[in-house]
Amino acid sequence: MSEKKIIPLAIPNFDDEERRLVDQAIVSNWVSSGGPLVVEFEKVIAEYVGTPTAAATDSGTSALHTALMLAEVGPGDEVLCCPLTYIAAINPIRYVGAQPVFLDCDETLCISPAAVAAFCENECEMQGEKLINKTTGAHVKSLEVIHIFGNMAHMPELLALAEKYNLIVLEDATEALGTRYTAGPMQGKYAGAIGDVGCFSFNGNKTITTGSGGMLVSPHEQWVQRALYLTNVATNDLGADTYRQFIHNEVGYHYRLTNLAAALGLAQMKKLEGFIARKNDFHKMYTQALDGKNGYRILQYNPDAYCNKWFLSLYLEDCPKSRDEMIGYLDANGIQSRPIWTLICDLPPYKECQCADLTTARRYRERVVNLPSSTGLTDEEIQTVIDTLLKVSR
Ligand SMILES: *Cc1c(COP(=O)(O)O)cnc(C)c1O
Repeated sequence: MSEKKIIPLAIPNFDDEERRLVDQAIVSNWVSSGGPLVVEFEKVIAEYVGTPTAAATDSGTSALHTALMLAEVGPGDEVLCCPLTYIAAINPIRYVGAQPVFLDCDETLCISPAAVAAFCENECEMQGEKLINKTTGAHVKSLEVIHIFGNMAHMPELLALAEKYNLIVLEDATEALGTRYTAGPMQGKYAGAIGDVGCFSFNGNKTITTGSGGMLVSPHEQWVQRALYLTNVATNDLGADTYRQFIHNEVGYHYRLTNLAAALGLAQMKKLEGFIARKNDFHKMYTQALDGKNGYRILQYNPDAYCNKWFLSLYLEDCPKSRDEMIGYLDANGIQSRPIWTLICDLPPYKECQCADLTTARRYRERVVNLPSSTGLTDEEIQTVIDTLLKVSR
């Protein structure tokens, strides 16, 4: 029996460049937290997204946790966010003792400016500088914008609301490295580098990977300096006597990226634009062949942006198969796919959280199937996915 090749959803794409740089890290004995390649990787990312500096972390989750500490979001505070996401976007809110408030998404799958406006206007009131939630009495301190599947949220509208209601804007750009505006008032701006602080992830399934890793960027240079300090077990200035004598003036975190991981990241960054171009090719192929056929749609991205299109999504508009039947059918044909996440507000740790109307998020949850989006796929493999989807009988 011949073994059937599986068409993967989102796997890494390496070549000799990764081996060469990882080998360099091994030979140098700099394999652990920090090191020269970490500093270089930070510089490359900061230059790429257009921020003065960056702080590398050991995961996207630790970058988000650090970002909330920088924003001084703490016990009793609330953060506005959308529950149609991966749980690592929300857990850090709890790590700092705050609570999420769940609002709906729009057609970008990201938080809806209209939902934010309605919540702030109708459910909250300004007391001095602070936006107070009338139901809980809590200070709504931050707006977390999560750029789902590498899409660009409607940032001009969201930033205007953040300004109006005095909210710190945290961008979870863990899925959106490389996504940038190409039109409109924010032309040239990169996802993650628009708000007060932004975070990226280099987990194995993301557009580029370091195994595990993350990056924090901010236009506020002191915030990045503080991130470097907190993630390095509350030490900076490694040559100083305070370091040699193990003086730590705060509770810090062992959240720095390793030099070994940074080696992977530097090699991957050289290929990022090529990876994004490939994903854009796949999106075009899926759209041309499938959109409007068999009751399918292919989800489109913010037209004002060039998006990294991290994950490509089939939307079952009027289809004889349910989401899970479709995933089973693809699986039986050697094609990996997955549903969009269970809404975070439906999971046990977050069941008691305040939720606004979530009609749009629930609709996408029911109808989206993510299709193979790995950058190493060939046109023939994408065509196989298309042919398999067109064979589904009505
Ligand atoms: C991947 C991801 C994270 C977390 O990144 P890790 O590097 O896996 O810790 C956070 N938020 C979202 C939306 C993600 O997709």
